[in-house]
Amino acid sequence: MQRQVRAVAVQERGYAEIASVGLLLAILVGFALFLYCRAEEQTVPITGRTQRVALSEEDQATLGAEAYRDILAESATEIVRTGPEATLVRRVGERIAEVADDPGFAWEFTLIASPTKNAWCLPGGKVAIYSGILEVAQDEEGLAVVMAHEIAHAIAQHGAERMLQEQLTQVGLLAVSATLGGLDPATRGTVLALFGAGAQLGVLLPFSRDMESEADRIGLIYMARAGYNPEAAIGFWERMAAARDGPEPPEYASTHPSNESRIADIRKWLPEAMEEYHKATETGTTMLPPPAGLLLQPARVPHADAASASG
Ligand SMILES: [Zn+2]
Repeated sequence: MQRQVRAVAVQERGYAEIASVGLLLAILVGFALFLYCRAEEQTVPITGRTQRVALSEEDQATLGAEAYRDILAESATEIVRTGPEATLVRRVGERIAEVADDPGFAWEFTLIASPTKNAWCLPGGKVAIYSGILEVAQDEEGLAVVMAHEIAHAIAQHGAERMLQEQLTQVGLLAVSATLGGLDPATRGTVLALFGAGAQLGVLLPFSRDMESEADRIGLIYMARAGYNPEAAIGFWERMAAARDGPEPPEYASTHPSNESRIADIRKWLPEAMEEYHKATETGTTMLPPPAGLLLQPARVPHADAASASG
């Protein structure tokens, strides 16, 4: 008897669910179309690739700044505000941003004291560098490789592009799970979160391999325009690959695959970057001497020599 009652109840819930699944599917398809149509179409500088992004540049700036404040607030005690390394991070960042195809971002470059070998950027030109990656960078040109790569991600608007891809993927997944039978509370939460624009900006989504590759290529051009020898990128990624095989694989290497094909691509793009580098050094954009007392790696401080020898 009891079993029968339960069976009826389950069946009734079944009909209600079919109706709500149909409605949900209609909403999801409509929402996917809305997301795609609202997305702005634009062209990435240097590579000329056409892309669609989730947010306008204004929204990226606002939401990126908010997320940056939130993330930095969590590591407030580790932020390095003064000293030669913080100065160098700001200087390298500002030099590269100045020659990049800057749509008018309010750039910020923050050094965070942490052994983590990592760096990241948020939409709108908000960059963070962990002091652990300075060991891999070794010198100002090595640091320029990382920072130009991050600046390239920001200018190519990979964050907002990734966000649109993620939203569409999640809508697709929700449609599948709705069709397969019902939504658990966690999934319902995801649907609701999707409607809150920018909810995902607080999460640092890993970029796709194509985006990484694009940031490498654009980064080479930008560092060269700023007067940094782009050949330094090969050494940087070789050291990153070596660190990857070490006892503590760097976080940067998990999101930035440092493999042979990446270095091969960089070699392929070097001639166009070297042209920019020679133009920059001919017009007098030479490397500044490092701030007094700066030793990213005690044994190796080749800044001044490298600039005059290859300029
Ligand atoms: Zn990257």
